[in-house]
Parts: sequence; structure tokens; C-alpha cells
Amino acid sequence: MNPRVLLIEDNAQNRYLATFLLERSGYTVMEAVDGRAGIELAAATRPDLILLDIQLPSMDGYAVARALRSQDATAGIPIIAVTSYAMVGDREKAMAAGCIGYIEKPIDPDTFVAEIARWRARIRGASE
Ligand code: MN
Repeated sequence: MNPRVLLIEDNAQNRYLATFLLERSGYTVMEAVDGRAGIELAAATRPDLILLDIQLPSMDGYAVARALRSQDATAGIPIIAVTSYAMVGDREKAMAAGCIGYIEKPIDPDTFVAEIARWRARIRGASE
């Protein structure tokens, strides 16, 4: 079965690019445009992985990560933050909020999927 990724991202261009790259590599992608929709979709679909934008309207990525961690239905799903390189301190805050890793924006089409594969391998290694 294809790995299922939930992408929580408010920017349409970033959603388009990430989804295009992931689907091309055999991932099934579900999309949410804000934190609340993402939390609902995560609980309903239990994806293998969540890619979480930090700069989101109304509820930022840190709050979304904490909410996902706090409910039983989603607490076990690995979260990777997608953070802007310019936002110093984002990564540490993302890890503190319960993300297991981060990928830098802007999304690099040449390395994006490989980075996700690397995080997935780490997750599998950690759970064995
Ligand atoms: Mn954003």
C-alpha cells in the first residue's frame, strides 16, 4: 500500500508542488488548508505521516502539533514540520511541540521526497 501523507499547508503553490512531487513518487497525499481541518482529517484518516506548515492562519503549526499529540487518535502519527529557513528558532520550537523533524522551505524539488524518505527510514528504525 502506498504511504499516506497528510499535508497541512495554507499556500496553494506549496500544496501543489509538494503533492505533485509526492504523488509522482508513489505517495498518497491528503491536503488540509488550515490547522483545524488538518486535525480533523488526521483523526479521520490516520495517515502514516503528517507534513505540517508552521506559518498557518489562525492556529499556527506549533499549536496544531500540540493538538495532534494530545489526542489519542493522532498522538502516534509522526509529524514533520516544514519551516522557512529564515525563521530562526522554528525548528527547536517545532521539536518542542512534538514534531520529529523538519524540512526547510522553499521546497527543493530535487531533494524534497528524498528528505521525507530519510525521515521515514528514521521513524521505522526508531520503532524496531
Ligand atoms: Mn503557510
